[in-house]
Amino acid sequence: MPVSQLLGWGIHVLDTGFQRTDMAACYVLRQGQDICIIETGTKDTVPLILDFLANENIALEQVKYVAVTHVHLDHAGGAGLLMQALPKAKLLVHPLGARHMMDPAKLQAGATAVYGKAEFEKTYGDLLPIAEERILVAGDEFNIQLEDRTLTFIDTPGHARHHFCIYDDLSKGFFTGDTFGLAYQELTTENGPFIFPTTTPVQFDPDALKASIQRMIAFAPERMFLTHFGMVEAPKKLAERLMQQIDVLVNIAEKHRDDTSRVSAINSELMAYLLAELDTHGCQLSVTEQRGVLASDVLLNAQGLDVWLSRTT
Ligand SMILES: [Zn+2]
Repeated sequence: MPVSQLLGWGIHVLDTGFQRTDMAACYVLRQGQDICIIETGTKDTVPLILDFLANENIALEQVKYVAVTHVHLDHAGGAGLLMQALPKAKLLVHPLGARHMMDPAKLQAGATAVYGKAEFEKTYGDLLPIAEERILVAGDEFNIQLEDRTLTFIDTPGHARHHFCIYDDLSKGFFTGDTFGLAYQELTTENGPFIFPTTTPVQFDPDALKASIQRMIAFAPERMFLTHFGMVEAPKKLAERLMQQIDVLVNIAEKHRDDTSRVSAINSELMAYLLAELDTHGCQLSVTEQRGVLASDVLLNAQGLDVWLSRTT
């Protein structure tokens, strides 16, 4: 995908530049004079967003809202830095994520523990706090207006408890963060997008995730805007697929509950499962290329399933 693309309905998708191209997106919604940015990427995404606004002749004061679907750092790592550049914007965040945006020390410590200090500093830098008066806590069914357009925030736990998805009445679509899985464009074939769930540590909850997917489908959406990556249509069929796959992932995890090297066993089996599914899906990439696209998420999924197993003993 080019660095940014107009999808329609005043929605632009931008590549955040996180890890590789077409890995993580953010969205800019424009309705008349009002702008809302959904997802911030990391500190390195902020200049890309500001360049985009300048190229579109959007004044920084026009940005009324910045929304982060949850506070994982590929979605919200750049929020503090971005808010410093946008004088009028309010940050919309889930009730359980708000304190981490005001005081990111705990997020920073958690991520440093996972990635190590050097990698954390390179990828995420210092997370900047956001003043309380600039934060709008968006509980379930909270909504905002962009001129005559309504965005509604729906509490969607399962990937993370601090996760909301955003329904846009104009596009009849949800901005799904990580609740409606991952669908990388390289893996799309004539059979459509290749979607699979994400079970990143540490709050994966399969029953909650399924309920959140069902709840979104109850809105009869016509499309979903995934952070990883881009727009997918005909979401009902994809939802069925995700529901089945959540069960498959849980079964794979359960099978390895008593293994000594549980993460690596789950990682291998999960990769083998997805490669077989990709073959059925008609993917023409080489197996090495497929592994390249999947590897980091498969490992995160294995780590998240491991944490879930520990929680459910
Ligand atoms: Zn993510």
